[in-house]
Amino acid sequence: MTIKVWVFSTGQLGNNVVFLINEESKEAFIVDPSYEPEIVLDFITDQALKVKMILLTHGHFDHFAGVNYLIANLPEKPILAMHRDDLELLRDGGGSKAFHMPVLPPEDPDLFLEDKMELKLGETPIQVRLTPGHTAGSVLFYIAEAKTAVCGDLIFYHSVGRTDLAGGSHETLIESIQTQVLTLPPETRLIPGHGEETTVREEMLHNPFLAA
Ligand SMILES: [Zn+2]
Ligand SMILES: [Zn+2]
Repeated sequence: MTIKVWVFSTGQLGNNVVFLINEESKEAFIVDPSYEPEIVLDFITDQALKVKMILLTHGHFDHFAGVNYLIANLPEKPILAMHRDDLELLRDGGGSKAFHMPVLPPEDPDLFLEDKMELKLGETPIQVRLTPGHTAGSVLFYIAEAKTAVCGDLIFYHSVGRTDLAGGSHETLIESIQTQVLTLPPETRLIPGHGEETTVREEMLHNPFLAA
């Protein structure tokens, strides 16, 4: 296996910033660069990583708070990718005004993600799965080779994403989990947008929101 998955917990909200790294070429994708982007940039420099893409699971401010800093400081501008259905949310500051934590949004994404789209990090496929519910344009990234899914604010350890914010729907969120998460192999590692990681099996058995 040439792909490595590395997680940083940053900022007051405990956002998980996820690196997908091709160990041979040192090419990397970063998912949801949040607060404290200096830590992330130090890691990139130390490891001599070539950041090819910045992927956003959704358009909330805490998931893109570090994007402008990284783009300004990386030697080569990575491709910024997100689902189109969160574009208005992103342009509006990602809900940051309502939290009184204003964050300047990045410029519009270079690439719009779609359900079942396959991105490639070297030879490794990274599958995009559309998972609306927390926001309309939420996606997860599934890396079969690493038995890992990076889920954003869809599902958490024994919990699920909030759906009381703009564009949220609890029913849609549960359906997304049923069709896009619980259909993955049980041993799949789930990295949520915040807090501790879990697995498909663990949530199937013990997530109170998914009880039949
Ligand atoms: Zn969110
Ligand atoms: Zn979040």
